[in-house]
Amino acid sequence: MSLEAATKLVRVGRPAEEPDAPLNPPIVPASTYVAGGRSEYGRFGNPTWSAFEAAIGALEGGQGCAFGSGMAAAHAALSLLPRDAVVVAPADVYSGTLGVFHQRGHTRLVDISDTDAVLRALPGAACLWIESPTNPGLGIADIPELCVAAHRAGALVVADNTFATPLAQRPLEVGADVVLHSATKFLAGHADLLLGVTITARDELHEKLLAHRSGHGSVPGTFDAWLALRGLRTLHLRIERACANAGTLAYRLQQHPGVHRVRYPGLASHPQHERAKRILDNHGAIIGVEVDGDADAADRVVAGTRLWTSATSLGGVESTLERRRRWAAESSVTPDNLLRLSVGVEDVEDLWADLDQSLRL
Ligand SMILES: *Cc1c(COP(=O)(O)O)cnc(C)c1O
Repeated sequence: MSLEAATKLVRVGRPAEEPDAPLNPPIVPASTYVAGGRSEYGRFGNPTWSAFEAAIGALEGGQGCAFGSGMAAAHAALSLLPRDAVVVAPADVYSGTLGVFHQRGHTRLVDISDTDAVLRALPGAACLWIESPTNPGLGIADIPELCVAAHRAGALVVADNTFATPLAQRPLEVGADVVLHSATKFLAGHADLLLGVTITARDELHEKLLAHRSGHGSVPGTFDAWLALRGLRTLHLRIERACANAGTLAYRLQQHPGVHRVRYPGLASHPQHERAKRILDNHGAIIGVEVDGDADAADRVVAGTRLWTSATSLGGVESTLERRRRWAAESSVTPDNLLRLSVGVEDVEDLWADLDQSLRL
């Protein structure tokens, strides 16, 4: 039976139905299993992880492998490459990933929304690392076209799908080799845990990712995997409301006198708006807002909100905002006065009233 995403979200990863079976997978705290099975030891596998992996795997179209964090999943994906392999990656890739690229070297940073620039950088590269929409620039990559070009150049394609979620795009379906998520963000969705996951439809890559997890011990906690699956069950409802809120707020913000520029893929003013309409099934819940003024002016907007929480991270039910350049590790292509808004599922008029008053202070 082929199921729609909403049905997969709710149904996949449950115990077999038999009298008195629980509807949800149990939290299995175990370091050791009775010998003779597949897992044997807690670092090699856990039934609670497996339930989460089955659900996200069904959504992305491959086999999931859960990790202790998104960064652990990113390291696992990089472990698929030879040590000195050249990686082509977005200049405004997530700052944690950027730090890893700086450390390992051999990285060519490009504007991932500029397909020609990516094509020029690909010869000799072993991997194309895609993040789209980018964090926090919200550039949109043409993932289908980039996958074709990367494979022609002999490069593995890794796509960080944290921002988009499988409800907006499924990179494996258009050719990516590995998808990864910081499940900390939208998938779990409640700002109460750290978790990462890789998904691939290629068995040999999945086996390598599993081996990396076992060898490095970058395993998730059992309770965290259980909570993430619980959060995942309502991903479609949360995303639907958050995207609707974000669309309304982005439109109003771009007319606000306190705002210089709004970056949101759903706005006609977004440089890749047409591409976003073509390849994304929603426009997301993240908005980039360059306030009218400098970094201090942007900081004052953050300080002036009462409902929006000043906090990093994103993808929770609660609306948060931050000035990204307050982090030393943030890419220098990110403007100093850019606020990243992670729009939650509150009432949109309450969210607007609070932003509006703070932008006028
Ligand atoms: C947060 C984030 C990560 C890192 O995930 P953690 O769970 O914090 O380790 C990677 N990629 C993107 C796009 C992120 O937003």
